[in-house]
Amino acid sequence: MKQTQILVVGGGMVGAATALALAQSGFEVCLLEKRPPDLSWSAESPYHPRVSALTRASENFLASLNAWSGIEARRLQPFTAMHVWAEDAPKRIDLEAAAIGEPNLGHVVENSVVQAALWDQVMAQPLIRVYADGIAQLEETEDAVHVTLTSGTSLQAQLVVGADGAFSTVRTLAGIGLDTHDYAQAAIVGCVRTERSNHQACWQRYQASGPFAFLTLGDHVSSIAWYLPLEQQDWALSLNDAEFARAVTQASNGFLGEVTEVGARAAFPLIRRHAQHYVRPRVVLVGDAAHTVHPQAGQGVNLGLLDAAALAEVLTEAKSSHGLDWGRRTVLRRYERWRRGDNLVVQRAMEGFDWLYTTDEGLAKGLRRRVLPLADHFSGMKHWLMQQALHGRGRLPRACQPQYKGQTS
Ligand SMILES: Cc1cc2nc3c(=O)[nH]c(=O)nc-3n(C[C@H](O)[C@H](O)[C@H](O)COP(=O)(O)OP(=O)(O)OC[C@H]3O[C@@H](n4cnc5c(N)ncnc54)[C@H](O)[C@@H]3O)c2cc1C
Repeated sequence: MKQTQILVVGGGMVGAATALALAQSGFEVCLLEKRPPDLSWSAESPYHPRVSALTRASENFLASLNAWSGIEARRLQPFTAMHVWAEDAPKRIDLEAAAIGEPNLGHVVENSVVQAALWDQVMAQPLIRVYADGIAQLEETEDAVHVTLTSGTSLQAQLVVGADGAFSTVRTLAGIGLDTHDYAQAAIVGCVRTERSNHQACWQRYQASGPFAFLTLGDHVSSIAWYLPLEQQDWALSLNDAEFARAVTQASNGFLGEVTEVGARAAFPLIRRHAQHYVRPRVVLVGDAAHTVHPQAGQGVNLGLLDAAALAEVLTEAKSSHGLDWGRRTVLRRYERWRRGDNLVVQRAMEGFDWLYTTDEGLAKGLRRRVLPLADHFSGMKHWLMQQALHGRGRLPRACQPQYKGQTS
């Protein structure tokens, strides 16, 4: 039977970051990924349809893992402003990096680029062993977890980290329940070229059917997030390029002019999920395995990276406290107490946005039309909002704080 200190299941952005952060602290890690990424990349590679808007906290963490330079060497796009408005509100809210003395409000990066930059480091890290395999069985005992992989290989670990995404097998095998809410909405994502420049900004327009966003990937190139009632998902995906370009121009009300070119697209039914527990004896969940949020404010992977950094910090502190069994439940609970409430707040805030911007009656409509336009005049409030969105709220893991940027260990 193979042995390891920590088994991380799932090598997506969050799992790869978790494995690296733990290995940097001297833990011996096995990383299990059933579909290891293709690391070949060229500047001519077409844009991948899935992108994330990464906060400064995520940037700092990725830099501390030496992965930010791999992202810069591939492709990333800073955004210097965010413009948000509702179709029936008289005024839009403009958030600008220059107003808070920052060079940008974050970066839009293809998920495949983030994952590849992390995997470059994973492959170079002697404390990480990679298995291209899945997990079939998991049995917890007092001081270890016995795992059977899909290939039949047996493995014993002191701790299993479930980073295997929204449909987490680890979560199911550990018997952890899930609270869910179906938004009955789908997000259509993809890359488009527009007649007018996006001015290195992200634009989000709220309409009755849901938000529509352009996230800058270049001057005239944007990633779109087009939110539709779920029953229209198949229709949107069935459109040919010319029809899709016309539909996106219409859905965006042409605020960046005509859509002139479209790339590959994908659709994601939107469901809020929250694991009822993040920890079981010797098992812990991070990233989408623990929570999924409505993507309208681009928070999902940013929260997952905070989970990864927080878990690594808690385990590292426990390991360095003489004689403490770092894999035991009381230690894991510190991580759960730190991260679960924060993730819950963000999940609920997304519901608040949805209500405020899409409810077509009563209080929401009044706030949208009369109170929100005033928000644009209160620079103090806007500055606070931008700082929260960029740097994160509450207690930030040390690796996500500015001084950790570029640190190696
Ligand atoms: C439309 C849309 C837009 C979004 N935009 C943003 C944004 O702008 N900003 C942001 O922060 N977030 C955004 N998100 C959320 C973000 O994409 C997710 O939070 C993020 O991808 C989750 O990463 P993860 O590593 O936790 O999970 P995943 O990316 O799902 O990775 C899980 C990994 O585990 C592997 N795996 C699964 N099962 C097993 C198994 N049994 N054994 C071994 N390996 C396994 C998979 O192959 C995969 O590699 C968006 C989401 C959507 C749907």
